[in-house]
Amino acid sequence: MKVFILTLGCPKNIVDSERLAGQLLSEGHEILPEPEGADLIILNTCAFISEAEEEAKNYIKRLVKVAPVAAIGCLPARRPRARRVYGPAPGETDAILALAGRIFRDPDEGTRLLDPYPYAYLKVAEGCSRRCSFCVIPLIRGRLRSRRKDDLLEEARALVELGKKEIILVAQETTQFGRDTGERLEDLLAALDRIEGDFWLRLMYIHPGGMTRSLASTLASLDHLVPYIHMPVQHLSDRVLRAMGRAGGERAVRRSLSLIRKYLPDAFLRTEVMVGFPGETDEDFRSLADGIASGLFQRVAVFPFYRERGSRAWAMKALSRETISERYAEAQNLVRALHIRVQKGLVGKELRLLVDEPGLARTVYDAPEVDFSVRIPKGLAPGNFLKARISSVDGEGDLEAVIS
Ligand code: SF4
Repeated sequence: MKVFILTLGCPKNIVDSERLAGQLLSEGHEILPEPEGADLIILNTCAFISEAEEEAKNYIKRLVKVAPVAAIGCLPARRPRARRVYGPAPGETDAILALAGRIFRDPDEGTRLLDPYPYAYLKVAEGCSRRCSFCVIPLIRGRLRSRRKDDLLEEARALVELGKKEIILVAQETTQFGRDTGERLEDLLAALDRIEGDFWLRLMYIHPGGMTRSLASTLASLDHLVPYIHMPVQHLSDRVLRAMGRAGGERAVRRSLSLIRKYLPDAFLRTEVMVGFPGETDEDFRSLADGIASGLFQRVAVFPFYRERGSRAWAMKALSRETISERYAEAQNLVRALHIRVQKGLVGKELRLLVDEPGLARTVYDAPEVDFSVRIPKGLAPGNFLKARISSVDGEGDLEAVIS
């Protein structure tokens, strides 16, 4: 059967899609690069917020005009009674849905059919045992299930041997790795760092409450780790953080920031923040806005609060839509200004870049798909590292470089 897989949402879904594609290929199916000509389109969905659900439904409406669509991933997990198959799907669809369900629940790897990019995600765990009050991920993805360190090492070694130049550690929250199995993230990182080869290691999805002195000093000791930490702090006001159920509150955020600055003084810090959470006062919002403007972080993504059924925040009294929109717009403006300032600071520097595709590369300070790109002369093949001098920045914050 000819299958096309489209992935929405976060890198964790990309890994699941690669595993599904690998498995289907080994069972004799053909994986197409385009939906045209497919017997079945598999849509791997996100349902973290209602907007993501809407996006998935819109994709289904469009794709079903091309071929039958089967929805897998977070949307059917969040809405088990919702329809999963659209259009006259082939007979093998049920077996494929069952396989996708097993991959969704079980974080252990099967064969992956990797995306053609020079980077690959390494999913170290599935699920989350934290209980942030705005978040439905634990309901969708279940409790933490870490993978075994040895399996992860074997997979990372294979990825490097296959020519991947960047291994990106992901999970719903990576610092929980090993809490259910007795293994330690520090040991995993140190072992990954000992893999031979020229590659970057990147660590994403850190909860501030999980940033310990031991983890910070381990990060500082790694040769392959890029100077970039992804730590969604969500807010800077203790009252809001406590209402969000963020373990450790503001103290954990401040402590983690000072540990990062002490052990990784040159690292770029990427964060995510939420504005308009129930009970957020003007003063709370100002402390967050001031933190963004003062340059505590180099990369920031802002989200407005979404009231998600099933989350504890569903029952909290929401702020007016107007207040949420105003704060969101103000925070977005601050973030835009911050990004341009930070990016201008890179102009004139000679940096090592990784070519992602012809004419486009990335610095160590940028994760794929969420941060900035660097335009370079075409002609260098993806997967090459190069030294280049940053010559300019455009209005969006993307860079241009000349090869030194
Ligand atoms: S740590 Fe992340 S995934 Fe886990 S409950 Fe909190 S926001 Fe959700």
